[in-house]
Amino acid sequence: MSEPNVGATFPQFRTQAIRAIHDPMLQRAIDGATLNFRTGRASALEELPDADVLRDHFKTIRSSTLARLADHLETFERNATAAGAQVHWARDAAEARGIVLSIARDHGADLVVKSKSMASEEIHLNQALAAAGIDPVETDLGEWIIQLAGETPAHIVGPALHKTREQVAELFSQEAGRVMPPDDIPGMTELARGILREKFLAAGIGISGGNIAVAETGTVVLVTNEGNGRLVTSAPPVHIAVVGIEKVAPTWDDAAAWLQLLARSATGQPLSIYTTAITGPARADDPDGPQEVHVVFLDNGRSRQLGTQYEEVLQCIRCGACLNACPVYQEVGGHTYGHPYSGPIGAVLVPLMFGLEEYAALPHASSLCGACLEACPARIDIPRMLLALRAEEVQRHVVSRPEHFVESAAATVMAHPRLYRTFTALGRFFQRPFVRKGGLRPPGPLNLGGDRALPALAKRSFRAQWSELEREGGSDGLSA
Ligand code: SF4
Repeated sequence: MSEPNVGATFPQFRTQAIRAIHDPMLQRAIDGATLNFRTGRASALEELPDADVLRDHFKTIRSSTLARLADHLETFERNATAAGAQVHWARDAAEARGIVLSIARDHGADLVVKSKSMASEEIHLNQALAAAGIDPVETDLGEWIIQLAGETPAHIVGPALHKTREQVAELFSQEAGRVMPPDDIPGMTELARGILREKFLAAGIGISGGNIAVAETGTVVLVTNEGNGRLVTSAPPVHIAVVGIEKVAPTWDDAAAWLQLLARSATGQPLSIYTTAITGPARADDPDGPQEVHVVFLDNGRSRQLGTQYEEVLQCIRCGACLNACPVYQEVGGHTYGHPYSGPIGAVLVPLMFGLEEYAALPHASSLCGACLEACPARIDIPRMLLALRAEEVQRHVVSRPEHFVESAAATVMAHPRLYRTFTALGRFFQRPFVRKGGLRPPGPLNLGGDRALPALAKRSFRAQWSELEREGGSDGLSA
């Protein structure tokens, strides 16, 4: 069962990051997986006649949809209800869990099968089901692996991306009660298939997320690669889709642009292997399908972002491209972020939705290099929002008192040229014993750079050199 979120205050993030950086197996697993995703994405976008034009178009679709989000959600509800589905509205995680549990109780379900859903991770649905005596079984292979390991997803798209083949074989061996060699991939797949197929047939309820909710027909679209999504949505008699309210697309034309970019950005595929569209329960002449379909729309802090400088965060389609591009994610991995939403999008989304204090380190988990913005199919300006969150931390005194004091003092000094000159002159004098090879290496707690040397103040300031050159009548050839 997934653990609850652990948070990411500064000490927590630092501890978790150090652990991840010193884990060679983890580093190898992340490097390999993110490189594959990045190269796949690059070649898949090259196949499009003009990927940049499509991305601009998609950005427009996403922002105009959010501008009339309530209207589109009402249209979805009307059309989904007309098709026989039941639409529910959950203001927060507790309400969403309550809705799912009450449907499960009404049907006397003691086993549910699930396809991969970040929304259900977000609301800790598995823990709630287990506490109510209902067995939740993840059926996406990656999700099943981390369920067996008792972990949370390490990546939005590849939840078990941090696991090596050897670690997976160990988990499967425990499940099978016999040794599974790491090279026996067909054997491990067969084991998973054998166990999970029985669960599909026995489950009273199938639970999925929803990649897109198409308003004009009231359809939930699921994008999967393993076929488990189809079994989850068609084998059990009842299907529940838990969908974030921002996932709505007004029309199928909008959904088509979305689909063109989603799999390309996520895994480098032109389309995922399965694209499943669910419009209400099975019709009388359908060979299979659920007799009941429920769509649970989840707010959980999303509507709070509408109309703010962070509204753009709701344009995210959870493709994971920003994680693969991020140099920080590549080093620290997903679990360091202390929440299932990790990487650059998690660094914005999680503090906004689940508390800036509890996740204070996340807006700082970025070099602001802009790789996430460059990779994002919706061109979401993550660096801008990270900076805005950092500014909020200062205004709300979320940063520690000593840090707040140091930053305020630095701001005062920099705003007053005389003070600045005085302090840099003092710094130049007092740094002398600690300068080695041009780098500053003060002792003990003063060594803020850790293993790396901070740059020492230059012997003569730029201003001093400039004034001297002006006096001599030229400004070429400043020395370092
Ligand atoms: S922010 Fe952009 S790149 Fe990152 S997961 Fe969301 S849509 Fe994908």
